[in-house]
Amino acid sequence: MNMKVMNVPASPPAADPLDTLFDTLFRPMNALGVYGRTGAYESVVEALAALISSKRETGTEVFRFPPVMSRAHLERHGYLKSFPNLLGCVSCLDGGEAEIRASADKHLGGGDWTADLQTADLVLTPAACYPVYPIAAARGAVPGEGYRFDVACDCFRREPSRNLDRLQSFRMREYVCIGTPEQVSAFRERWIVKATALADELGLTYTVETASDPFFGRVGQIMAFSQLEAALKFELLVPLRGAAAGTACMSFNYHREHFGTTWDLRHEDGEPAHTGCVAFGMDRLAVALFATHGAEIADWPESVRSALRL
Ligand code: ATP
Ligand code: ZN
Ligand code: MG
Repeated sequence: MNMKVMNVPASPPAADPLDTLFDTLFRPMNALGVYGRTGAYESVVEALAALISSKRETGTEVFRFPPVMSRAHLERHGYLKSFPNLLGCVSCLDGGEAEIRASADKHLGGGDWTADLQTADLVLTPAACYPVYPIAAARGAVPGEGYRFDVACDCFRREPSRNLDRLQSFRMREYVCIGTPEQVSAFRERWIVKATALADELGLTYTVETASDPFFGRVGQIMAFSQLEAALKFELLVPLRGAAAGTACMSFNYHREHFGTTWDLRHEDGEPAHTGCVAFGMDRLAVALFATHGAEIADWPESVRSALRL
């Protein structure tokens, strides 16, 4: 029999268990992973920020960075080698009034004004710690006791997704250490302990596992493998979808001398400094709290509300 092959529409994607939280947390803004945040959600993000601040070690210097950074600095960081697919770059209309008017008017005429955009000297910051290394390097030799920084930034990564725990625009908070290999290793060990204690206070279920960054392409797979093998990255994963792999809500990273050599960030004896950071995904942690304890903050366990002073 000559069966006609029907063009059966693919069944709709299975609803994500986190979807039921959307209206409590977010408002759509016409782009996947770019959302307006509700007052309830934001109160949790602010409370988390205060809780993380309360764990800051003495001698830590605080910086808050804008959501854009120097393109030249990002290029020097090696981002184009590792994550070119995630980068967002600022582009603007340059020129005199007549040129800019002509470009903008293309839109009013139904044309493509974006063809006239010029690449600017700025990119959207993809990680909160990137701007701190050149700031430290500009000071000269790294002091014997090393540096510790507390940084935060609105970050952008071009990874549009329907999942509430994968945004294009999200907040990242980090503690950063610059020093000797021993200082950086000790910092990371301390922070794994402090951060898991913090996750306990928040009533979150988690595992801490070795991880790799999502390096781009085939060469990236080799980079990811050696990162895993050397245990340079750990993640604190919170299971937000039953038995499925957990969502990384924090990461503990040892960059070895990568940023030290990139930025000529050296000790008095000329040896490149080692660096490491602990990153808190503020939006991921907030989503994890709602997913774990429910949509109503008033119904969350007393211990969690008291840790967050909510
Ligand atoms: P993932 O493997 O989930 O993509 P990552 O390894 O790229 O995470 P890091 O580069 O270590 O993440 O970033 C630090 C933290 O920032 C992550 O642990 C996570 O909590 C948060 N984060 C990273 N990407 C996103 C995103 N797209 N949306 C929300 N939070 C994010
Ligand atoms: Zn970092
Ligand atoms: Mg990622």
